[in-house]
Amino acid sequence: IEKLKLDTNRLLHTNHINIQFTLSSGISIYPDNRMKDLLNVAYKALSTANKQGVGYSVVFDKNKIDGNTNNPIGYDEIKKALTDGQLTMYYQPIISVANKSIVGAEALMRWVHPIKGIIPPDLFIPMAEKTGLISELGKFAITCTIVQLAQWNALGFKRIQVAINLSLREIESTNPHEHIAALLDKHNIKASQIKIEVTENITMNNQEQSYKQFSKLKALGVDISLDDFGTGHSSFSMLKAFPINTVKIDKSFILNISTNKDHQNIVKAMIVMVHTLGMKVIAEGIEDINSVQILEKLNCDYIQGYYYGKPMPVFEFQEQIRADKQKSDENNILDIS
Ligand code: C2E
Ligand code: MG
Ligand code: MG
Repeated sequence: IEKLKLDTNRLLHTNHINIQFTLSSGISIYPDNRMKDLLNVAYKALSTANKQGVGYSVVFDKNKIDGNTNNPIGYDEIKKALTDGQLTMYYQPIISVANKSIVGAEALMRWVHPIKGIIPPDLFIPMAEKTGLISELGKFAITCTIVQLAQWNALGFKRIQVAINLSLREIESTNPHEHIAALLDKHNIKASQIKIEVTENITMNNQEQSYKQFSKLKALGVDISLDDFGTGHSSFSMLKAFPINTVKIDKSFILNISTNKDHQNIVKAMIVMVHTLGMKVIAEGIEDINSVQILEKLNCDYIQGYYYGKPMPVFEFQEQIRADKQKSDENNILDIS
């Protein structure tokens, strides 16, 4: 695998375009695994490797990875998760580079399964999209987040902006602005406390319809962020065609930024371009202080990653906001003296 990685993990220059290849792998071994399961459990290991970042290899280990391939997650299971209240939102802090304090959070869905434990969204969102259940999951994410914001505001927490992930398919095929508008009104929340993060994991079916939907969201006053920038189908056309406030650089460019000069250059160029278009930049996948320093030098506006906190349940997140407030209060005291 290491030899294969060396062969593939290089930059290819062709017609003035640089193409970066990376290799991630999921490995299953016979006779540890049954012959008929080899391919399925290799996929499970690959999915685990992809979750760790770019370029990882994972050998399937039945003690660590759920290898129950006879029982894939389907419509009925997701529907039951919704009705039985097994879905919840975790929150990951978003930090301002200028003063290193928490200015926002990303709401990320988790399925707390009574037997399987916590199931990450990559394992059920794609199936929810295929079966149409994604619109119900989207409604759940929006409701949960707005109700949470109302609680935080009532408890006197500092006002932060929370980003909700909606896939392009959800925005094209449902009317999220109606649901959001009703909830903002009911809970007396300003639209500026909400940001919609759009993932472009599908090609846009109908640009005109998408544009209408985006404009309705924008008219409400919510911010719109383009997620996973640099990957996907139509990043540049999305930038041009839609009323976008923030661009989120995909973590595949950020995870190894301190050692990969090419990624540093690509990120530098992306930040200049996004700023030239009058938008703000968030980098996700910040895992160490070196990456913070590099992104600070490159004039990135906001950062998010394990270095500042993994996605966490609401009570843990509240502790983090409290600590952040205390930190900035202490800094103010120091400034005054
Ligand atoms: P995303 O929106 O790009 O979210 C960022 C993902 O990167 C999250 O994975 C987060 O845990 C992970 N991450 C954040 N910082 C770091 C870091 O420093 N290092 C590494 N290695 N990873 C980091 P998660 O929570 O598993 O979510 C995966 C994807 O599932 C999300 O990617 C998003 O596209 C989708 N998703 C999550 N919640 C929802 C939802 O409510 N609705 C929809 N439609 N999609 C969702
Ligand atoms: Mg996101
Ligand atoms: Mg992302």
